[in-house]
Amino acid sequence: MPELPEVEVSRLGISPHLENQRIEKIVVRHRQLRWLIPQDIHLAEGLVIQSIRRRAKYLLLDTELGSIVIHLGMSGKLHIVPSDTPVKKHDHLDIVVSSGACLRFNDARRFGSCLWQAVGQPALSVFSNLGPEPLTDDFDGKTLFERSRGKSVAVKNFIMDNKIVVGVGNIYANESLFLAGIDPRKPADKVKKKDYLALGQIIKQVLAHAIQQGGTTLKDFAQADGKPGYFAQELRVYGRLNQPCVNCIKPIQSVTIGQRNTFFCDNCQK
Ligand code: ZN
Repeated sequence: MPELPEVEVSRLGISPHLENQRIEKIVVRHRQLRWLIPQDIHLAEGLVIQSIRRRAKYLLLDTELGSIVIHLGMSGKLHIVPSDTPVKKHDHLDIVVSSGACLRFNDARRFGSCLWQAVGQPALSVFSNLGPEPLTDDFDGKTLFERSRGKSVAVKNFIMDNKIVVGVGNIYANESLFLAGIDPRKPADKVKKKDYLALGQIIKQVLAHAIQQGGTTLKDFAQADGKPGYFAQELRVYGRLNQPCVNCIKPIQSVTIGQRNTFFCDNCQK
């Protein structure tokens, strides 16, 4: 599943091809994604894409009347192709711009979505209750600590809660807690302030590093057969059950927390 770094890399990959381009037409081949694609997205036809932003795992293509809001779901992929490129299976949506380029959305499992956020209208419900972006100054370990008091939920679930901070998915939660030396099972309000201060910095570093790694795949966005956004990751604990810890060589343990696979070293994480 694409996590925040993959979505940010998608944004960086498609932006140079779409920004300041006029939308010639929007072709919807399969309207039923996770939610129905609203007819209103056709309001963007004839308008210029002023900017492409990311909020949590949503991409927003801004025009003067509103924004096309895209979520990749479980299996969604975005490519830039010439608009006459033959359509493949699961190519559900095209956004064709004046240069002749086309943003093509392919999603085999159809958990992705494409919505319309009109200017001046209340924010879509998908944007309500979202916490701060982890890579901005609105997020740090101090606010994590303050918001954790009185919360007995496992610290791993706490940092994966979008109301606390957006975009810390399962892989990056595992990796960040390992680097911070925090047991993922520990109740959020039992983690000390100094550990949250370190964890806040580490979450930023882990996500920024993943985006940087993904930067090497940017050229794939302009290749229909490329695999944009899914890049090899350097993982220290995630998926490494029974393999030696990179710090102390004890075998990595696995438990399920909040129905998600959780990997940790019970020697290095307290
Ligand atoms: Zn260890």
